Amino acid sequence: MEIYKGQLVRLLLGTLILAAGLAAQTANSPADPVRTVVARLELDRYKAHIKGLSQFGDRMQGTDRNRSAIAWLEKQLRSFGYTNVQRHPFMSRSGPLENIYATKIGTTNPGELYIVSAHMDGRGGGEAADDDGSGCAVVLELARVLGMSNVQTSRSVRFIFWNNEEFGMDGSGTYALERAPLQGTAAEPKWLGVIQHDMMMFDHGMPPGPKQSANADIDIEYQRNSRMADDSAKLAAALQAANRTYASYPATVGTNMAGTDSIRFEDLVASVSVRENERVIEIVRGSNPNHHQPTDKYENYAEENFGFGFNSAQTTLAALRQIARITLGGLR
Ligand SMILES: [Zn+2]
Repeated sequence: MEIYKGQLVRLLLGTLILAAGLAAQTANSPADPVRTVVARLELDRYKAHIKGLSQFGDRMQGTDRNRSAIAWLEKQLRSFGYTNVQRHPFMSRSGPLENIYATKIGTTNPGELYIVSAHMDGRGGGEAADDDGSGCAVVLELARVLGMSNVQTSRSVRFIFWNNEEFGMDGSGTYALERAPLQGTAAEPKWLGVIQHDMMMFDHGMPPGPKQSANADIDIEYQRNSRMADDSAKLAAALQAANRTYASYPATVGTNMAGTDSIRFEDLVASVSVRENERVIEIVRGSNPNHHQPTDKYENYAEENFGFGFNSAQTTLAALRQIARITLGGLR
């Protein structure tokens, strides 16, 4: 009996010493700067950005709903500290429109630029909450965190909200056409990559069920049949690696990027889309029953949907830490 008690005491003591040792190790190890910056993303704010855009309805191009949403986006970007908010006017088939963007200027390589984007227009007569309020909210939340005064990036990051993705992708198309030849001049930094976010929240499997799929994953796609396929595959891999460590839902890389603004850049620079499902074999075949419908409303998404969309913000921000070299205060 005495021996048993002694063993028990030793076991308990051993456990305590081990626990104390682990605690000390955790306290003494240097903070992971990626985790620190990713922890600044807030799910409640992500949801508030979606709600904020949803108030303008579907934001179809050429409507007051569209123009009011652009004014709202400008107000948000300015509130995050950006004094360089720009509108990029262009002539679409449906009349004069504007893209809007703000830029985090790189500290050591300001002339090198990553484009982080989503489309602010929508369709369907609802609120275009998922398509693409959910992608705009990723871009806004990243802009908010990178806009913090003690966050720096070595390279520049431009947060662009494209207009008229839905009826011609001519906001992104015009920007690509006009600015590609200007790269490296004062008018436009050299592009290093484009990361587009379009429909982030809804992976209920295929065919879609009432609840989120147990296998819900983020789909990162590039276009294998494009001039920049090799560079785009590397960009996709960087996002996937970041996802593994800093997000909860896994990311799958696909090779058939389609049907979103990043295709306008695929022959010019590394380009990927980040989405809730694969475009060609899932979204087009009805993976989200709210797609382009009046039911694409904020109220029709559950907490698990918002949480899933938020994971893409974590994924892209963690990747930017590496590729755009984010530094945080004195941490490197
Ligand atoms: Zn879309």
